[in-house]
Amino acid sequence: MTRKLAILGATGSIGKSTLDLVERNPDRFEVTALTASTNVEALAELARRTGARLAVVADEGRYNELAGLLAGTDCRAAAGEAALIEAATGDAELVMAAIVGCAGLKPAMAAVDAGRTVALANKEALVTAGALMTGAAARSGATLLPVDSEHNAIFQCLAGSNREHVSKIILTASGGPFRATSADGIAAATPAQAVAHPKWSMGAKISVDSATLMNKGLELIEAHYLFGLPSSQLDVVIHPQSVIHSLVEFVDGSVLAQLGNPDMRIPIAYALAWPERMPTPAQRLDLAAIGRLDFEAPDLQRFPALRLAREALEAGGAAPTVLNAANEIAVASFLAGAIRFPQIAAVVHEALNGADYDAPNSIGDVLEIDRVTREKTRSMMQASCA
Ligand code: NDP
Repeated sequence: MTRKLAILGATGSIGKSTLDLVERNPDRFEVTALTASTNVEALAELARRTGARLAVVADEGRYNELAGLLAGTDCRAAAGEAALIEAATGDAELVMAAIVGCAGLKPAMAAVDAGRTVALANKEALVTAGALMTGAAARSGATLLPVDSEHNAIFQCLAGSNREHVSKIILTASGGPFRATSADGIAAATPAQAVAHPKWSMGAKISVDSATLMNKGLELIEAHYLFGLPSSQLDVVIHPQSVIHSLVEFVDGSVLAQLGNPDMRIPIAYALAWPERMPTPAQRLDLAAIGRLDFEAPDLQRFPALRLAREALEAGGAAPTVLNAANEIAVASFLAGAIRFPQIAAVVHEALNGADYDAPNSIGDVLEIDRVTREKTRSMMQASCA
């Protein structure tokens, strides 16, 4: 059976891996819509290749360029927020939400509100508006399928089990490029070093998040909303080989894990084919060749971002929204060379300290807290650099 699929963030790392699987399984999927932020050349090329009917560029200033590139095809060009929402809700039954950052929130929520099956890679959307998104899914009947490798692993381990029998979820973390680096070395880290992840090839923002361990912190919050467990039942362990993608401990002491080579096409394929499975070209796991699997506790002194994220999870209310917004601004500033690596966590810390918002009751509230936090974070960074 062919499933109609929209891919939000088609030109990114997750988008491209999704399209790789789609092109290897042409009988399973019909691509209805593709979106990008600014990269109209890549978007138009993907639209031509897949036969998508709608291509959306978020940046309205690039509309004419996109329309020109798609002239003579059956693919309609569109631009802006309303068009992103159209892509997320049109005739697709399955939506890959792979825009990076809070920018993906509105389209992902639109797909959830419309009752679609949403393969969710865009973790920031869930972190910033978790309760609203899971509440909307419960109302609309939408299915949220985790794409993040850790949450996908947990989702696989939980299949067929009674949630009341779960005692703990253990998220694994590779430790990122600075796992074995001294605090002084980390303080001097450059953007090029921070995005050079030892195990995964990913977009720049999540690569920096992996280097600060904020990524694991965002994933704690993501796990809380996806699986309904409190912070006390969510653990993190560093596992440098990235072979075990996460584990679930049950009340009887049994622990289930999902293993595989670090290739995002495995969790993406699980989400795309769910409740079935489909083949992927991912290299098969050869445990004898790997030889050993190592584990260690995370070092919260060198990686304070993980502690901040857990504190935001435990504080609840608007704290995860503030954490996410401040982190997005800090990471972009670090990548632009405006702040040093340790300042990312310092900026987030200050943003959380200065925040005093009521819990958001609507997506409008979330977006307002996000906007104000971004503004304040920018001013704070400008003041400290002056
Ligand atoms: P990339 O930076 O590689 O791609 C981001 C995509 O989003 C691109 O298509 C980009 O378009 C689009 N985009 C960026 N900004 C906007 C915006 N303001 N409005 C609309 N579209 C926008 O990111 P990744 O693929 O690495 O990550 C995507 C999401 O998946 C993130 O939330 C990340 O945390 C999550 N994730 C990623 C993993 C990975 O392995 N990469 C693993 C697990 C989760 P353009 O190309 O035009 O800039």
